[in-house]
This record gives sequence, structure tokens and C-alpha cells, in this order.
Amino acid sequence: MSKFYITTPIYYVNARPHIGHAYTTIACDTVARRQRLLGADTFFLTGTDEHGQKIERAAQAAGKTPQQYADEISAQFRALWQRMGISNDDYIRTTEERHTKRVQELFRRIRDNGYIYKGTYTGQYCVSDELYVDGAQPGDPCPTCGRITETVHEENYFFRFSAFQDKLLELYANPDFVRPETRRNEVIAFVRSGLRDLSISRSTFSWGIPVPDDPKHVIYVWFDALANYITAIGYGSSHPGAQEAFKKYWPADVHMIGKEIVRFHCVYWPAFLLAAGLELPKAIVAHGWLLFEESKMSKSRGNVVRTETILDVLGADALRYFLLREVVFGQDGSFSFDALVQRYNSDLANGLGNLASRTLTMINRYFKGEVPYPSHAASKTAADDAVAETARKTIREFGTLFDQFQFSRALETAWGLVAAVDKYIVENEPWALGERQDEDSRSRLATVLYTAAEALRIVTALAHPVIPDATARIWTQMGLGDIKKLAIKELSWGQLQLGTKLGEVQPVFPRADKSAIERMQQMEDQQRGPAADEVKDAVPPTSPATSPAKAQPGTNAGAASPANEGKITIEDFAKVDLRVGRVKVAERVPKSDKLLRLEIDIGTEVRQVLAGIAEAYAPETLVGRKVVIVANLAPRKMRGLESNGMIVAASLEGGQPVLASFLEDVPVGARLK
Ligand SMILES: [Zn+2]
Repeated sequence: MSKFYITTPIYYVNARPHIGHAYTTIACDTVARRQRLLGADTFFLTGTDEHGQKIERAAQAAGKTPQQYADEISAQFRALWQRMGISNDDYIRTTEERHTKRVQELFRRIRDNGYIYKGTYTGQYCVSDELYVDGAQPGDPCPTCGRITETVHEENYFFRFSAFQDKLLELYANPDFVRPETRRNEVIAFVRSGLRDLSISRSTFSWGIPVPDDPKHVIYVWFDALANYITAIGYGSSHPGAQEAFKKYWPADVHMIGKEIVRFHCVYWPAFLLAAGLELPKAIVAHGWLLFEESKMSKSRGNVVRTETILDVLGADALRYFLLREVVFGQDGSFSFDALVQRYNSDLANGLGNLASRTLTMINRYFKGEVPYPSHAASKTAADDAVAETARKTIREFGTLFDQFQFSRALETAWGLVAAVDKYIVENEPWALGERQDEDSRSRLATVLYTAAEALRIVTALAHPVIPDATARIWTQMGLGDIKKLAIKELSWGQLQLGTKLGEVQPVFPRADKSAIERMQQMEDQQRGPAADEVKDAVPPTSPATSPAKAQPGTNAGAASPANEGKITIEDFAKVDLRVGRVKVAERVPKSDKLLRLEIDIGTEVRQVLAGIAEAYAPETLVGRKVVIVANLAPRKMRGLESNGMIVAASLEGGQPVLASFLEDVPVGARLK
């Protein structure tokens, strides 16, 4: 029996789960489900990444311990996956002892192999990305997210990254190792530009796994997090069962990730594994980002969609189908409630759902609920053969496309069969045949309904990994039992048995009307009150309920009690000059995907500001818009241009920046305090 091991990234617990997390998890879930149908001994892993300075700070801001904070968010992820019926075999948390001990084991092994040494690091660090920014100067922005990097000076443990440059480049020669091609090229360029040794410990905060034999240091959060892929299946354990599992499942067949973490997975992770003398994953597959169309009812608010809203209104299958059918896997895709409902109605309600209900209802009506069989050759026509041929082709093509992660095209192919059968039914008019009692008509009717039912069975089988719930119900309605027992390798035309007794026929995808869109938008608006926590890492909390020390800011000035650690006084905050400005000019910065050059009127003058928001906002949509800028930030140079101030935006985990703005009309130059 072959094995198949697939992983999602473990999700960072600095924000609650949203549709972007669901997207990755759904994609992995469908792959895992198909592998099980193919007969592979499948292991599907997901979990949460819970250490690091960013979590420590977020917890502090929320008035919680990092562990409490991590417990809460991790539980939200787990509950969401359970509610969605995600079929993961394990759920790893990096604060679990099974993980922390094994990470230390990995660290020891790499150190013993001579690839870890102690040194001093002085340089820039982006806390938001937990990323060391080589070559940056104090005050420089992070090349990934545009936030200002922090200067760190510490004694650290270093990983001899430089020893692996050639070996890594050899790995990328295999086109399947990093997919898609664009990401592979990006990684090759990065490694070719030279690898500097990497600091893999921190000593200025404590929320992490202690370095073995030197507990003043904690292990770099990415080293810790990436190791989950081996710790979860038993690496570093002395338990024989765990060792057995590790031997069986490692190396991973697929690490599926979002494109923003390609470098960590395709450069850092293989280097750590090489240093430890471990086998490398077979493939790292990166998908693009889900972009969110701003909904009509909440133009000036954040636009991250909660998965729960869609589950409540349309169910998990609708979301799964939409994301895999609508978005070309590997590229960025767009999400909107309108598009979701449109796709749901056309492909699921009117497509597969309608095919199932009309076919099975007619078998009930004309053949007492038993699958009829064409009784003699004379009742066959070229049209029947054409459907059979389309079905055979669909089985072949669907498998090939799906196994290359081309989910959208695979589904398009399968729904091509749905369309072919719909047309076949319309042209052969089984309802007219059913009105006649002569033997030829009965025989022809049997052939037409058998052909339709057999095509339905094949589409249902192929689509099962993508829409598991609805297909399981159609399968039962067809009298075929438990769809999980299906051996998809043997799927072929003509297997539907004569006389199979149908189960009770019920619609699986009721049509959604316009009110579904409104309902989802309303649910989202209600969730996006001031208490919404997605923007936690972008704006300081102002609610006294979550931050007791801030309730009376004046009285606490200067107090150094532990409760005030990491907090600032009102005087500190007053040093930041936040002002309302209006964008007068906006244009792309040449050769930069992220940066826009803006000219912003702040009442007293017009400032040139560079902002890393080009992937979220087209320049022409910004002209005339009011924004919030930090007006007294020291000027910085970016790409040879001077930036005088910083534009304020909410940072959404895995999503795009969202500019701060006002519901009310505010004059240009107004100060925020
Ligand atoms: Zn950054």
C-alpha cells in the first residue's frame, strides 16, 4: 500500500481564522480525500504555530498570557475545521510537549553535525514577519510587508546557511520540488544571490522553545514552526510507535503553502533538513492569495470574510466548490458573495443538484425506484455512446488535472460531463417516452435513464473529494451505500448495477436567491464592530476592557510594574503625530510590485510618502481618498525615493493591507489623538 503525507502550513495564532486559512485547508483536504479514494495510506496534518515575539506582544496587548492567548485562537481554528468536516488525521500545536521536545532534538542534531554556532547578530528584524532583513539599515522598511524593521543586537546561535547554497540549487533543478514555476524561479533567484548565515535563536524575549543546554535563548520561531512537519509524525521521539510512524510517512509528499511563505519552506526548511541528514519533502506547492472585493454595505470597513458566514448560509460544500473551481490554483483569485452565489446556483443547484434530482425522480416514477437496464441493442443510439465516451474521457482527464493541482480545470472537465448529460436528457425527452407504454419506448426510456444515472454516478464519484457532503448524500440516494468505500482507480463506465434500489430522493443543493447575498453581507457587518480583532497587530488596543492599565492612562505614567511591561504612556503616544491627509497623486514605483508613490495633502503641506500597498490598491482608486499618516516620522529612502511619513493600514494575516479611514467626513489636516 502506498502512503501519502500532506500538510497545511500551521497557522499563526495572531489572528482568528478567516477564509484565507480555510482556502489552504480545503485544498489539502480535497487532495487527502482523493488519495484515500486512490487507496493510499494517507496522513493529513494541520495545526497552529504559537510561539514568537509577535504572539508575545499580541497577548500582552490583549491582557493575556501568551499561552492563554494561543489556547483561545488555536481552539477557534480547531473548531472551525471540525465544523467544516476537514479530514485531518492530526492537529499539532507548537506549544505541545511532543513538539517542543522534538524540536530541541532537531536543534541538537544539527548542532552536533556542526551547522550551528554561537555569534553576535546586529541587524534589522521584522517582528510582523518574524524575518531577519539582511543588509537593511535602522529605520528601513521590511521588504516583505513595508513595516519599519527593528534593530536587534544580541548574542545568537547561527545556522550555517552558506554551506547549503549549492545543494539547494541542485534541488530546484527538479521542477516538481517547488511549484508553480513562478515561485520556483523566485526561490532560485533568492538562493543565487547568496545565503548569509541565519540567526536561529533569540534572547530578548522568552515566548519560545528554549535552546537545549542554553535556556536563556529561545529557538527562532520559523525553525520551531517548520519542524512541526516531522515532530507531529514522531521525529525525535524515543517511543517505538512514533518512530515507526515517522519512518512510514516521512518524507512528506506535499507541503501546501501560501505564496508569502515560500522562502521559509523552499529555502530554510530544506536547508535545516539537509543539515540534520533527513530526507526532503517531495513537493512544496504554493497557492496565490484570495483577494476580497469590498462588499457594497461596508465600503469603509475591513473586508476579511469569515468562513462561518458562508457555512451558515450555503454550507461547506458551496465554499469548497467555489474556491477550487473559481480560483486558478497557484494564482491570486477574487472572492465575493455575488460570485459565490452565482457559481453555487449555476454549477451546484442547477447543475449537479438538478441532474441528480431529475434523474432519480424519473427512475422512481417510471421504474419504481430501481435502476433500469437497456433491454436490447435496438434501443441504443449514437447519443448514448457519446455520453459514455465523454464520461471515460472525463475520468482520465479529471485525474490527471487534479493530481497536478489544477483543481479548477479538473472541475470544469467534470462539469462538462454534467452539461453533456443535461443536453442528452433534453434531447431524448424521457418524460415523453414515459407517457408511452409500447415496448420500444420502455426500452428506450430505460437506456436514457440508465445513461443519465451512470453519468451522474461518475461525476459524483469524481467530485467527492471536493464536495464530500453532497456527494455522499447523492451516493446514498442512488442506493450505492458509503461513498468512502469507493475505489476510484477502478471507476469506469457501466458499473452501475441493474436493479440497484434507490434511497429516498431529496434535493442536495436548494437554489439560493438574492437574499443569501444580503444575509451574508449583514452577518459580516455585524461581526466587524470595533471589537473585531483582526487589526490587533496594527493598532494599539483602546478598549479598557482588554487593557486595564490603559483605563486611566495618566496615573500610570512611568510605572514599571510587570503589568505595564510593553505598554506606553499617554505622553509616549502623544509623540506620534497622526494626521488626516488626502491623496493627490498616486503612482507605481518602477520595478517594485509593492510600493506606491503618493503625494498627500496634510493641510499644511503636500508630502511624498511611499507605501507598500500596491498589491491591495490600484493607484487610480486612491486619488482623492482620505488616509491617516504618521506625519512626524523621520524621512527614509526607499528605492532611491524619499518617504516623508507613513500611511496607516490594518495588517491582516495572510491578506492585504487595508487603509485606515473614517465613516464620517473629516477635514484634511485633522489630528488623531
Ligand atoms: Zn515584514
